[in-house]
Amino acid sequence: MSQGLVTMSYIAASMLFIFSLSGLSHQEKARSGNVYGMLGMAIAMFATVMSDAVSSYVIIMLAVLIGGFIGTKAAVKVKMTQMPELVAIMHSLVGMAAVLVGYANFIDPTSLLTGVEKTIHEVEIYIGILIGAVTFSGSVIAFGKLSGRISGNPVLLPARHWLNLGLLVMSIWLCMQFLQSAETGGGTWALLLMTLIALAFGVHMVMAIGGADMPVVVSMLNSYSGWAAAATGFMLGNDLLIVTGALVGSSGAILSYIMCKAMNRNFISVIAGGFGTTSGGPAAVVEGEVKEINSHETAALLQDARNIMIIPGYGMAVAHAQHTVNEVCKLLRDKGKNVQFGIHPVAGRMPGHMNVLLAEAKVPYDIVFEMDEINENFPEIDVTIVIGANDIVNPSALDDPNSPIAGMPVLECWKGEHTIVLKRSMASGYAGVDNPLFVHEHTQMLFGDANDSMQAVLKELQG
Ligand code: NDP
Repeated sequence: MSQGLVTMSYIAASMLFIFSLSGLSHQEKARSGNVYGMLGMAIAMFATVMSDAVSSYVIIMLAVLIGGFIGTKAAVKVKMTQMPELVAIMHSLVGMAAVLVGYANFIDPTSLLTGVEKTIHEVEIYIGILIGAVTFSGSVIAFGKLSGRISGNPVLLPARHWLNLGLLVMSIWLCMQFLQSAETGGGTWALLLMTLIALAFGVHMVMAIGGADMPVVVSMLNSYSGWAAAATGFMLGNDLLIVTGALVGSSGAILSYIMCKAMNRNFISVIAGGFGTTSGGPAAVVEGEVKEINSHETAALLQDARNIMIIPGYGMAVAHAQHTVNEVCKLLRDKGKNVQFGIHPVAGRMPGHMNVLLAEAKVPYDIVFEMDEINENFPEIDVTIVIGANDIVNPSALDDPNSPIAGMPVLECWKGEHTIVLKRSMASGYAGVDNPLFVHEHTQMLFGDANDSMQAVLKELQG
């Protein structure tokens, strides 16, 4: 394929990626956004394989077959609740690719660069490996935390901020050593030492982040993986990889900012780790009477209600209850009730998790609202059904300055007339914090698997 055709294909792929991102930011257009992304990626891969950069087609075809097989297998096997872990492990692969490409470039015997161009290339290699290694180890730890293999509690080393600063200063010093030694063909030791430091930094950074701050880490690592891809693009001289990496890097950074705003957190504090975990005193102990309700009584309350709010959380994903929830919602709307969904920005285990599930179950978009749009409406709500949510409806975030989630805005469902919480036990949520909502005077607990409970309520409503 001629260079002109490759460039044109790259421009087309870049545009498709931009359309894809734009589509993915609206629920109605998310499906077409995905199609644009897939099309862009197919064009990008085809043009790269056909370009002058590739000489050994057998190796490329083997890599495509092995990668395609693993990717398809993972996509078919993964459950919706495991998506965040899958995303985290995918990010780690981008980081690992950047590290490997960096080392391959460093030891490339065919490189003819000299003078300033050589120095620029060495800086690209250094930065590429640095970002790649942080992304890799940080994503592996995020995978462990999201899948429950590693505890979600923050691990706070003494003087951790000084430790981080020390690692940063050391990396800068090693960069200078690397550039000096590389002029005479050396520098391997500096590169290897920096890689170890970057790997340690990635582990330390994510280990120090507490349960409820994990959403920011997920979006931040998404951003890092973009910058790692862009760095790989610089090392390989591939414009499309630079553009795509920058798109992912900047959109991930914007998402991190949105998540921080949604959680009332300061971005720098979150990445420095342990924000909200070093409060003055112990969190308040939750005491009070737990009032149980059964499916018959729940259906009766819903029959009498005019305004109904449904708050889905991670438990809805675990129970696969979204389709039953949609059935109940349809039935209630047919009976003339005003049913709305309230979505917290960090509900579930990945950004947009609840929106994806509700869209899959075909819940109409126009009754699904973001927290900010409906949080003031709770005093007018007759019945709120909280389905497998916990941290996102925890009043202690607002009332208890010593709570690890203090300051995080939550859905204020306790201001409504009745709140029914569907969960299996009194266990805490991801942040490991007790929830006074469960003993609030307006709250009743419908214990059991969320799907079973919703099925039972559906039967009662139909009966
Ligand atoms: P939580 O994790 O706070 O609570 C989920 C609740 O669901 C649990 O208390 C559990 O209680 C219940 N549950 C689990 N399985 C079932 C089931 N089968 N049927 C009924 N209930 C069930 O979830 P939220 O959505 O309220 O909050 C999200 C949390 O995750 C926040 O702390 C957020 O910071 C964090 N997070 C979010 C990410 C994101 O990007 N959105 C990423 C990483 C973390 P029980 O066991 O008693 O049933």
